[in-house]
Amino acid sequence: MDYQTILNRDYKSASDDRPRSGTKRVLFVTSVVVTVSIGVLLYLISAPSPQAPAQESPQTVEHDTQNSAPSTRVRQTIPLPARQSSTEYELRPVPEEIPEAEIKADNWASHTVKSGDSLSSIFSKLEIHSQLKPILKDQTASDTLKSIYPGQTVRVLKENNQLQELIYEPNDQEMLRVSRIDNGYQAELIKRPVEKRRNRASAIIKDSLFMAGRKAGLSDNITMELAGIFGWDIDFALDIRTGDSFTVIYEELFREGEKIGNGAIIAAEFNNQGHSFRAIRYQMPDGDAGYYSPDGRSMRKAFLRTPVNFTRISSRFSTGRKHPILNKIRAHKGVDYAAPKGTPVKSAGDGKIIFKGRKGGYGRVVIIQHGSRYSTLYGHLNSFNRKLRVGSRVKQGQTIGYVGMSGLATGPHLHYEFRVNGVHRNPLTVKLPAAEPLPKKYMADFNSQSEPLMSQLDLYRSVAIADARDISSN
Ligand SMILES: [Zn+2]
Repeated sequence: MDYQTILNRDYKSASDDRPRSGTKRVLFVTSVVVTVSIGVLLYLISAPSPQAPAQESPQTVEHDTQNSAPSTRVRQTIPLPARQSSTEYELRPVPEEIPEAEIKADNWASHTVKSGDSLSSIFSKLEIHSQLKPILKDQTASDTLKSIYPGQTVRVLKENNQLQELIYEPNDQEMLRVSRIDNGYQAELIKRPVEKRRNRASAIIKDSLFMAGRKAGLSDNITMELAGIFGWDIDFALDIRTGDSFTVIYEELFREGEKIGNGAIIAAEFNNQGHSFRAIRYQMPDGDAGYYSPDGRSMRKAFLRTPVNFTRISSRFSTGRKHPILNKIRAHKGVDYAAPKGTPVKSAGDGKIIFKGRKGGYGRVVIIQHGSRYSTLYGHLNSFNRKLRVGSRVKQGQTIGYVGMSGLATGPHLHYEFRVNGVHRNPLTVKLPAAEPLPKKYMADFNSQSEPLMSQLDLYRSVAIADARDISSN
């Protein structure tokens, strides 16, 4: 099943006995409290006589009325069950000066480099060929423009067919600006460092994880990442219930005050059917980053439960069934995942390829050995990852081939087997071993990073609990 399907899944049908209207009421209560506070504040500011008791102020009375008799209008305008605003993560104001704004002006022309282009052809297409030589006299310009490659863009500002300015971004962090001066051109390479800022979002799931994420202001990618982090402990297709909740602390990337994208999730909590899961991101000195539980266990398992994004399970593991083509009773020692032809098939775990080739009814097959105890088999492949051969090392999640219907198959699907000590086990239910925990030598460093994040998650959770109490006392 692909994540989109998982994320879009409507959980309303799931059996559930939790209160559903809780979050609306939480927000309602919050907004009333805010309104009343503002009312009191206004009163204190505007009251002609500070000695007068607050109760006698018409303003206060008005707000009291609102408090005790909530209007339906307020309920309807309450946005969504997300608590996103947090002063500590509030974004700084965006500076006014953004070079991109100038670049988008009408008198700018641009060319996106295609394969086969040369500097000469690019300058011709932009009708500034005569200015190439003078520009390349500048060392910075010639050094930077040499590295241009397909997909990148050159933008130019012309006046009376005379090049005034040229902009080229060799990478995310630098911008080349070539400007016309009296006797030629002058170039400067402007550093544009990417700044990481932290933001957070929380939500209570009402319709689907996907919807909850959107309402909390999360991009679909962050929501998918969140599902990926907890996907080893929570089945996002089957386990999610209305009332489940999550908090994410994540990075946003800014350049010159402008948001250019999202970074990684730093820490997250997911509450699923009363169970709470937490994950903290940790990057080891060698650069490998992963998600760990607060006590240093890896969030991932040594094996993916499913090595392909499938549309449906077309056949389950069984010790005896009628083979659809051979028409005989046969054990089916794996799971068949129906998926469109060409869908990438991923290695379920780190390991070594011990077989790649044809194997009777299973068609094109890859077998991977994982340590001494485990092996996995992938059958009916349409084709292999050409870079891999017998003996190649593969990483968990690495594409090893593509779904097909080679061998005996009625339609494109992956036949997947999981063996423990040579014995076939049901891939859907076999207990999967956990991946390596965080090495002990990094635990102190991990703790120093995770503790403040844990307190933040604690804080957000205590807010949620307080809100839940408000609901039950109403
Ligand atoms: Zn099969």
